[in-house]
Amino acid sequence: MSTIPAPHFPAATSSPVVERVETLLVDVPTIRPHRLSVATMNGQSMMLVKVYCSDGTIGIGEGSTIGGLAYGGESPEGMKLAIDTYFAPALLGEDAARVPTLMARLAKRIKENRFARSAVETALFDAQGKRLGLPVSELLGGRRRDRLPVAWTLASGDTARDIAEAESMLDLRRHRIFKLKIGARTLQEDIAHVAAIKRALGERAAVRVDVNMAWSETEAAYGMAALADAGCELVEQPVASTAALARLMRRFPVALMADEALTGPESAFELARIGGADVFAVKIEQSGGLSNAQRVAAIADAAGIELYGGTMLEGPVGTIASAQVFATFANLQRGTELFGPLLLTEDILATPLDYSDFELTVPDAPGLGIELDEDRVAFFTRNAPRKTISLAE
Ligand SMILES: [Mg+2]
Repeated sequence: MSTIPAPHFPAATSSPVVERVETLLVDVPTIRPHRLSVATMNGQSMMLVKVYCSDGTIGIGEGSTIGGLAYGGESPEGMKLAIDTYFAPALLGEDAARVPTLMARLAKRIKENRFARSAVETALFDAQGKRLGLPVSELLGGRRRDRLPVAWTLASGDTARDIAEAESMLDLRRHRIFKLKIGARTLQEDIAHVAAIKRALGERAAVRVDVNMAWSETEAAYGMAALADAGCELVEQPVASTAALARLMRRFPVALMADEALTGPESAFELARIGGADVFAVKIEQSGGLSNAQRVAAIADAAGIELYGGTMLEGPVGTIASAQVFATFANLQRGTELFGPLLLTEDILATPLDYSDFELTVPDAPGLGIELDEDRVAFFTRNAPRKTISLAE
């Protein structure tokens, strides 16, 4: 354990201040390999940050990625380092009850690092909610819904296994929207895979695909036409370029969703301006935090773009932070994919989340409304020293 000495400066008022920031890496196996065009995941690594405040409240936040650095420029390990080295010293001694002010101050001192920023903002809002006795959704303007539809991603890599998995999800009444991860195999193999699954499920379920930018624009033009014929209702980020997304719009009877191209309000505005998407997949980490995710949603609403609540396959902390935000959206036409905790073999919460009747219940206790099972967290914490940066010590 290493400690960076910091001056102790008591707050001028009775406002609670941040006294201590702790980060840890928690590795939990997945129930099966999760195959994407960019990576195959056999486990998820969650960076958890805990913010301890002088009034005794403790806020928790999560930063997770898909396949380490396979998805973007931040990794759980990198987030931990960024928080330990830069965010934590900037937080110590600051008024914990003024979250937007504190986040704006951090933005001046720390560029980029959207995922780490999201984790920190989550922890600050969790603490503030506990302090005021309100769920985070109420702090963020007010909750509009208590339950969120949740899609499931079929990504075993095997068509028959994916169909069996979808059938069991329908039987369990867990999911009836299925997203298929494609783009790693040939276009023809992918189309056949999607068509076979849609044929098997028929009208009992919606089938969507996520290409994770794997296609060229010409592949996408062919692929989207074939997917529309196969009964697929939505194609997520088939190509990387926003200009190419705009050129693909409205040429096929299938909705086009932007995901990786959305990196916060500025990119959302640009996508809306050029007409680059029918739907935005909003993610708190990609957006750079909870408040920024709301700004992305506001831009979508203003532009007539539909909304979908996305996931970075976060564990329960990031998932519920996302759920608290999505619960405030005026529109959520395409539901969510907040299934991250269900992909993990182990629960790290004291009380499991409620996934039932195809939906997730948004907790209504103060803050995020969840509590970690600390023994389980300790068991899965990576064998590296927990680093604590403290004001008092
Ligand atoms: Mg995606």
